[in-house]
Amino acid sequence: MKMHNFNSGPSILPDEVMEQAAAAIHDFNGIGLSILEIGHRTSWFGDVMTEARSLVKELMNIGNEHEVLFLHGGASTQFMQVPMNLLDSNETAAYVDNGIWGTKAVKEAKLFGNAIVVSSTKDRNHSYIAKDFSIPADAKYLHFTTNNTVEGTEWHHIPETNVPLVADMSSDIFSRPFDYSKFALIYAGAQKNMGAAGVNIVVVRKDILGIKRAIPAIMDYRNHIEAGSLLNTPPVFAVYVALLTMRWIKKEGGLVEMGKRAKERADLFYNTLNALPAFRPLVVEEDRSFMNATFTTAKPEMEDVFLGLCKQNGMVGVKGHRSVGGLRVSMYNALPLSSVQAITDLMKDFSEKHA
Ligand SMILES: *Cc1c(COP(=O)(O)O)cnc(C)c1O
Repeated sequence: MKMHNFNSGPSILPDEVMEQAAAAIHDFNGIGLSILEIGHRTSWFGDVMTEARSLVKELMNIGNEHEVLFLHGGASTQFMQVPMNLLDSNETAAYVDNGIWGTKAVKEAKLFGNAIVVSSTKDRNHSYIAKDFSIPADAKYLHFTTNNTVEGTEWHHIPETNVPLVADMSSDIFSRPFDYSKFALIYAGAQKNMGAAGVNIVVVRKDILGIKRAIPAIMDYRNHIEAGSLLNTPPVFAVYVALLTMRWIKKEGGLVEMGKRAKERADLFYNTLNALPAFRPLVVEEDRSFMNATFTTAKPEMEDVFLGLCKQNGMVGVKGHRSVGGLRVSMYNALPLSSVQAITDLMKDFSEKHA
């Protein structure tokens, strides 16, 4: 039986993406070679990279002011690569700290320039998003995490500001339509909502690049742009899986459809959660994430009982992140509504027996 996959990352991918990726390991596009054994400078892989880069733009509806890169190192590498490329040592950058990933991003930025926290929600365990804060007029950029994977909050609107926006979209990339052209830089690790671990996507507006600092060649976005995202050997297979996922998103109806499905899943989950006395949400209603729902049992000692039931019923990934505890259900693009139905049915059952 296929499991109900609520993993937070690496996480669920569409079945057909898995089938196509598996087939390409045996024989890539009928060329008689595996995707794992062709050079990254062949036209076979060149076509993969070109299509992947252009599909990102197409799905996000952005033009030629932006460039798309597929880079190594996970989103955590972007915590340092972003300020290394955008922030000179005498300049200020504004950071929103809404969770553990935001906290890590600020820490890295401080190594490069004057990174200041303009909004922190630490006072209430990051259980909400503070929307009113002021940004110094001379800030080079405002960095925020669109979806807080661990804490379960999400920005449902883009912050209003004239300062260039930089966003870590690791866990909600391609989950909804947005005005993506408003962002100066977007980055995301692929393994949450768009592919396999091992690759990051970076979307950068070219006009924000160019600072005084000397940047190691492999860290400099401009070199990657010039090389068409083939500066050194890219994570070939991970790029291919991201391409397959983007093709799937496009075929299913693009980000409008992904947004609609995300809302359906979130509505079903949170409406159930709100109605059940045996469970408690961990974050305020208006800021709840459509991707990662965090909650707990009303009686702490019942948490393991519920997790045991999930296991018995073929549901994985429901335990909360080690830093916040509790429970978490991740509902990424590929998660069918039927999986949310299954876990909400189990929660109702559990609530009747144990409330
Ligand atoms: C998972 C995650 C990261 C870290 O990703 P790595 O690829 O493991 O470095 C950063 N930011 C957010 C929002 C995440 O969800």
